[in-house]
Amino acid sequence: MKIIDVRCATIGQHPVVRLVTDAGISGWGPVESYKPYIKPHVLALRDALIGADPTNVERVMLRIRQRGAFKPYGAAVSAIEIALWDLAGKAAGVPIYKLLGGKVRDRVRVYNGSIRQPMAGHQPEDYARAAQQMKDAPQGFTIVKQSLGFHSTMRNDIPDFHYSEKRASNFHGVSDRGLLTERGMKHMLACISAMKDVLGDEIGLALDCGPGMVVSDAIRLARAVEPLNIMWLEDMLSGDYIPFVNADVYREVTRASSTPIHTGEQIYLRQNFKQLIEGHAVNVVGPDPCDVGGIAELKWIAEYADLHGIMIAPHGTGNGLLGLAALVQVCATLPDNYIAFELPSGKPDWWHDIVDGLPNPIVKDGFIEVWDRPGLGVNLVADLARPYLAADDAGFFD
Ligand SMILES: [Mg+2]
Repeated sequence: MKIIDVRCATIGQHPVVRLVTDAGISGWGPVESYKPYIKPHVLALRDALIGADPTNVERVMLRIRQRGAFKPYGAAVSAIEIALWDLAGKAAGVPIYKLLGGKVRDRVRVYNGSIRQPMAGHQPEDYARAAQQMKDAPQGFTIVKQSLGFHSTMRNDIPDFHYSEKRASNFHGVSDRGLLTERGMKHMLACISAMKDVLGDEIGLALDCGPGMVVSDAIRLARAVEPLNIMWLEDMLSGDYIPFVNADVYREVTRASSTPIHTGEQIYLRQNFKQLIEGHAVNVVGPDPCDVGGIAELKWIAEYADLHGIMIAPHGTGNGLLGLAALVQVCATLPDNYIAFELPSGKPDWWHDIVDGLPNPIVKDGFIEVWDRPGLGVNLVADLARPYLAADDAGFFD
C-alpha cells in the first residue's frame, strides 16, 4: 500500500487530515479546533509522504518528525501520525490498540474537558454553579476540571488580582503573569472551596491555573489545597502554548507539597519530557496526542513516566471526535499510571452525524467502552460531510 495524496480540510470547527492510498482506504488525522490555520503546515509535508507505505508507521515518521515543534507546530506531524496508525490498523483489520500491544482495559476513564457551560462571572457562587453543572452532566463524570486564575479572565475581572501589568492579549501565560496579591490568592481559594463543597468526595476536581504563577504562589496554592485532595494543579508555571518545559522550576513546586502537579499539553516529542520525568519534576504529565507527535509518542511517554512513578492524564479538549477515537485507542493500552483523558466533542453538534462508529451515548458513568473496529474505528461519512466543506476544500473526499 502506498500514500498517493495528502489532504486537509476544516469541517465545522475541526481541521482533518486525510491520507489517501492506492488501496482505496483513507487514514484520518485529527487537529485541535483551535488551529484553523493548519492546512499549509500539513500540505508542506505532502512531498515527504507520497509513495510511502503507511503501515510502516515509524519509518514514515522518520521522514517528517523533525518538522514539528511545541504547540501549535507539532499538530501537522501529530495528525499525520494518527492517520498512519488508522491506515495500519485498517490494512491489518485490527483496532490500533492491537498494534500498540493490545488493550489493558475495556473502558477508559475521561474527564469533562469540552463539556462545560459559559460562566456568568468569577465569584465563588459562579464556580459552585459550574461544579454543579459538571456534576449533573449526563456523562456521569468521576473527575472534572475547572479553569481559574491566570487560565481564565479572573485575572482581569477581579480587581487587584495580581501585581503585574494587565495586557489585552487573550493568550495565557505570555500576556499576564506575575505575583498574586493576597486578595487574589484568597479569592482563588474561596472559589476552589466553593467547588469542593458541591463536588464533595464523589467527584475529583482538577484545576487549570496558568501559566503565569510565580514559584512562591504555586507552592502556597499547592499547600493551601492539600486538605481538599485536588486531583492535580495544571500548568501553574508554564504550559498551554509556552514553548519550553521549565522542569527544574516545576520540581521546586512539586517537592513542596503533596498536591499533584501537572503539565505537558504543549510539549512536542518524548525527548522533551525527559527532564520532567527523570527529574521527578511533576506528578502528572498531560501530553496531547494531537500536539506531542501522535499516539505512539504518547504511549512511549506514559510508559517512561510509569517507570518513574509519574501519572498521566492526557490533554484533548479541542481534538474533536476523530481525536476522541485516537485517545480511546491509545489510552486503552496505557499502564495503570493512566488517570483519565480530557474529553473532546464534535463542534458544531452536527459532527456527531457525519462520523460513523462511535457508541451512543459516547460516555457512560464517566467511561468510554473501547470499540473493536479496525484502525481508529470511526470514519467520516463522505456523503454526509461533503455539504459542510468550504469551497477551498471541495476536493477533500473525491
Ligand atoms: Mg490545560
